[in-house]
Amino acid sequence: MKNTPAGLLQKAGLGITRHRLAILELFLISPEPLRARDVLEQLQDTTLINRVTVYRNLDLLVEKKLLHRISSGERSFRYGLSPNILGQSHAHFHCTSCDRLVCLDPDDVRLESINAPGIVAGSIEHVEIRLDGLCSSCLESQKRARAADNAFGSGR
Ligand SMILES: [Zn+2]
Ligand SMILES: [Zn+2]
Repeated sequence: MKNTPAGLLQKAGLGITRHRLAILELFLISPEPLRARDVLEQLQDTTLINRVTVYRNLDLLVEKKLLHRISSGERSFRYGLSPNILGQSHAHFHCTSCDRLVCLDPDDVRLESINAPGIVAGSIEHVEIRLDGLCSSCLESQKRARAADNAFGSGR
């Protein structure tokens, strides 16, 4: 069954408000996890919404497990649809140069094995895997910068 913003709110026992619908809609169509700031900027184009409302609703949606927080480096994080909506957990790739965070295919990095019983004596509540590195465009520009440096050096 396809997830709709209204259906998700209903399942979570939350009241359906214009702002919550708009926020969830944004996550359902966004290919990448979003910062609170991204949510605010994108919604402000079409909706009358302020910072406080965005933050309050994001917190509520996390509390109700519709969204989850994904760490993207030191003390910063994004929001993404929760694995119980997507049906599967997945890892993320974070570019340390441009700060892009992308979702990886659940089949490429399998998180289920980490959740296997017996790995820890207690219980695992949350699994998060982030691969840090350089994205292809940052890698490219780094190579170009290096090549330019070399050309400059040999020309002297
Ligand atoms: Zn990058
Ligand atoms: Zn993701």
